[in-house]
Amino acid sequence: MSNDKHLNTRAIHGGQHHEPITGAVMQPIFQTSTYAQPWPAKHTGYEYSRTQNPTREALERALASLEGGLGAVCFGSGLAATATVMQMMPAGAKIVVGDDVYGGTYRQFERVFRPHGYGFRYADLSAVDPADVIDAETTLVWLESPTNPLLKVTDIARVAERAKAVGALVVVDNTFATPFFQNPLDLGADIVLHSTTKYLNGHSDVVGGALITRSAALLDQLRFLQNAVGAVPGPWDTWLTLRGLKTLGVRMERHQDNAMKVVEWLSAHPEVGLIRYPMWDQDPGFAVASKQMRGFGGMISFVLNADLARAERFCALTEIFTLAESLGGVESLLELPASMTHASVPAADRRARGIEDGLVRLSVGIEHIDDLIGDLEQAIERSKDPNSIKPPE
Ligand SMILES: *Cc1c(COP(=O)(O)O)cnc(C)c1O
Repeated sequence: MSNDKHLNTRAIHGGQHHEPITGAVMQPIFQTSTYAQPWPAKHTGYEYSRTQNPTREALERALASLEGGLGAVCFGSGLAATATVMQMMPAGAKIVVGDDVYGGTYRQFERVFRPHGYGFRYADLSAVDPADVIDAETTLVWLESPTNPLLKVTDIARVAERAKAVGALVVVDNTFATPFFQNPLDLGADIVLHSTTKYLNGHSDVVGGALITRSAALLDQLRFLQNAVGAVPGPWDTWLTLRGLKTLGVRMERHQDNAMKVVEWLSAHPEVGLIRYPMWDQDPGFAVASKQMRGFGGMISFVLNADLARAERFCALTEIFTLAESLGGVESLLELPASMTHASVPAADRRARGIEDGLVRLSVGIEHIDDLIGDLEQAIERSKDPNSIKPPE
């Protein structure tokens, strides 16, 4: 199907066709490792499932359609996709990285690839002049926008323009925004990365990743590495993700509606300090977000004016918001970066980076808004009492 159709249509039909033998409307799960060959070295186009699998390819076509790419390459996790980009880099690559990237990305860069001689330099790409950090030595620029957990917004077109001028590639991790709200390839990025674990699958039941590009040369290299390194997803997981993807549009609209109402409610709450939600008109990222995004989903970060002990009680006292890492599913989740995802960052560094003890990250789901707000309200109230709940032994 051509790419001039709307996103809600492409989420369902993009790159899809009925199965030719039976006419099955939905893509079957080709749960096979290998394919019969009619003659030695003559095959049907399918030899071995690390190399080709029709279910995986259906997901890859759907993702390429949604991001406006030439093709997509799927992996067993978002971090496997990240590693594959790194494996494409030349020895001694110089990589400029947004300073508020996903913790697992940071760990992979520092502990897996730095020892191999890659140079990583971190900068707040949402604030600095790209020309001050991206220079003729730069091989690659890696950024998230909005970031995790502070939801900082980087002007992607501005960074891409500078990168292009010095011959560096740009990778944008579009996991938080999703192609429903933002298309980095249109803004000049060379590769888009997704943890499909999050909004794209949307049901918290699969771990997966993907890379999408418009460049035939990059696509060839990425496909080569997908097969040569082998971090591929299984057919069942790609099928579940394809199934989840079909409702991306309706889910994202509801995530956004609910999140806006939660933001309004939080902003009137006397015990809430800073609130970050890029599409809220009082957010510092609002102007850039409005320029490059069509909306935003269910991610909100806010500061509960409380010490760490009370913030922990609050997180344990919610009844609908489940205390868990990850995000982007239909169910609401919350987490406390200071105690959970960012606990390994020393407290002083953490605070310097804006991750206060009371900073709570919400992934607002698609439940009824009154129940969600009611849940936050009761948990804030009850958390005042130090005896309201005790940590497990
Ligand atoms: C979860 C996440 C990743 C890593 O993806 P996995 O599927 O967990 O390997 C990368 N980037 C962002 C922004 C994420 O939220």
